Amino acid sequence: MSNVESEPVALRCGGDEGGAAVEVLSAREVPLGGPRAMKVRRTLPQRARTLIGAWCFVDHYGPDDITGRGGMDVAPHPHTGLQTVSWLFSGEIEHRDSLGSHAMVRPGEMNLMTGGHGICHSEVSTPATTILHGVQLWVALPDEHRDTARDFQHHVPSPVFLDGAELRVFLGSLAGDTSPVRTFTPLLGAEILLSPGASITLAVDPAFEHGLLVDSGNVRLSDTLLAPSDLGHLPAGPDTLTLTNESPTPARTVLLGGTPFDEQIVMWWNFIGRTHEDIAEAREAWQSASARFGEVIGYPGPRLPAPELPNAVIRPRGNPPRG
Ligand code: MN
Repeated sequence: MSNVESEPVALRCGGDEGGAAVEVLSAREVPLGGPRAMKVRRTLPQRARTLIGAWCFVDHYGPDDITGRGGMDVAPHPHTGLQTVSWLFSGEIEHRDSLGSHAMVRPGEMNLMTGGHGICHSEVSTPATTILHGVQLWVALPDEHRDTARDFQHHVPSPVFLDGAELRVFLGSLAGDTSPVRTFTPLLGAEILLSPGASITLAVDPAFEHGLLVDSGNVRLSDTLLAPSDLGHLPAGPDTLTLTNESPTPARTVLLGGTPFDEQIVMWWNFIGRTHEDIAEAREAWQSASARFGEVIGYPGPRLPAPELPNAVIRPRGNPPRG
């Protein structure tokens, strides 16, 4: 997925200020671009928070019936300094990238693409898709690995069944399952389904902060009730998390976690760097079709041009302290 906000905001992101309560991050609607733009609900980054662990971008979309409509059609666009994680609840997306990967993203199957120094990709919902529903997540790469080689990994986690819950651990470890997918910082990513009224307590790494994205149902995380589309953030410290579905219908959530990412980063469009110059260089390389990002073969159309850089040096913004 591409960040196609017309005036992407540059964000400088620091670590956490700590605190114990759950912070509720509400989503804002963002169009993905194009004449029949699909809208997504974005909970990261936002003013109140830019990172949860190394997770730096959370887009949530659907369920949308795209029959006879455009669905998702994101033309080739670049990434640097980050990884993308695609996770679907329903539908199918055709992924092509400049590594030569050509993969179908399907429900319950994780695709993790490492941009590293540079990659480009396209994402198109397939004609067979009726309901498109899922999340697109980004992970910031730590400085020592942000220029790593481009890469693509695929993993299909086996479901883990607990009392009234079904979990799929696509990154990291939870509920006795561990994903084999390699990451550059300690991370957790899992889909958790809860039956009506179900309550589970999960052992977690106390060094991790966590974010719980609610897709459906009303779910209590610790002492805070989260509504659909909310992302609840819990700082590092607790060694268990309790999730309770307080609705009379099944609930679906995505649990994200990681050790607080304490590097200063600059995000602009689809790039993550450390300075304005990093971003300007990446933009120039994309605009001049440099080998840095390579080429997507098989996408029927032109690639996405980068937005104009702001005239001023990109103004960094920090994570405000938690109130
Ligand atoms: Mn993308």
